[in-house]
Amino acid sequence: MLAQLGDDAKLLAGGQSLIPLMKLRFANPAHLVDLNFISGTSYIHEDNGTLRFGALARHAEIEASAAVAKIPILHDCAAGIADVQVRNRGTIGGSLAEADPSGDWATVLFTLSAEVCCLGIRGERTVNLMDFIKDAYTTALAHDELVSEVAVKVPPKGSGGAYLAFKRSAPVYPTASAAVQLTMGGDVCKNAAVALGCVGLTAIRVADAEAALRGQPLTEKTIARAMEAARAAADPQSDMRGSADYKRTLVGALVKRAIEIAVRRARGEQVEVSHIYA
Ligand SMILES: Cc1cc2nc3c(=O)[nH]c(=O)nc-3n(C[C@H](O)[C@H](O)[C@H](O)COP(=O)(O)OP(=O)(O)OC[C@H]3O[C@@H](n4cnc5c(N)ncnc54)[C@H](O)[C@@H]3O)c2cc1C
Repeated sequence: MLAQLGDDAKLLAGGQSLIPLMKLRFANPAHLVDLNFISGTSYIHEDNGTLRFGALARHAEIEASAAVAKIPILHDCAAGIADVQVRNRGTIGGSLAEADPSGDWATVLFTLSAEVCCLGIRGERTVNLMDFIKDAYTTALAHDELVSEVAVKVPPKGSGGAYLAFKRSAPVYPTASAAVQLTMGGDVCKNAAVALGCVGLTAIRVADAEAALRGQPLTEKTIARAMEAARAAADPQSDMRGSADYKRTLVGALVKRAIEIAVRRARGEQVEVSHIYA
């Protein structure tokens, strides 16, 4: 239908980004192609060490999924998006396709090296999420393609992660956020992935913070180096959520807290987290 209807057609998933934009007349599509009635598009299942999400998997379904509970950083993300009404409708595929710089999913999925399956009349292709998100509100999708699936590899034993956002209240997007996914070997960090949200035009993967942690015992000094790298990598704008300086300070503190929780989870501790409210 997208190919037939051309540029004037838009897909409708949960409608939690598109409908507000249409109400504001920022989007005015001539045709809406509703994905909600296509069966078998909201699955969540593990297959051979890979966790697969159908594009229509709702945030609330991900929050409640037993398969997802094994990767706590995914649960942190799903459970923290806006309020229950938004989580009941909004979908993982819609969030990634929207590529809102303040959206939560891309930040978290960057740390898990997620892959996005893009489907169109010419066939299917798999794109690494970091290549899929091109810019603010811009993805690698062609007009006649849709996101059909999002896949992440289940992290190896000894892994733990955490996602923390700083918010003014539950139903608003975060002021800043940080996602950390670690693999520990005893007291030494074997592997690390660190990403920041809401402090740039896209989520930002912080290679220098990862390098500061990798191969090191996670002492205060090591963590301080990762915090400094995160502050340096952030590229925030001053807006109604806070000044650029404020956001830069926030991401340092969020990275520190996320590392501390990730280490505890890597050791097998059950740690409940919730976002931090102003
Ligand atoms: C009050 C409020 C607060 C919110 N707070 C947050 C928050 O804190 N964090 C957060 O991450 N999000 C937040 N959201 C957004 C929410 O997570 C949305 O669900 C999400 O951004 C878009 O998903 P959707 O399924 O609703 O997509 P839709 O709104 O239906 O679609 C969004 C865009 O993606 C396209 N699209 C949808 N599905 C596909 C697909 N499968 N393939 C290709 N293109 C597709 C549509 O054509 C449209 O352009 C909030 C929304 C509201 C209304």
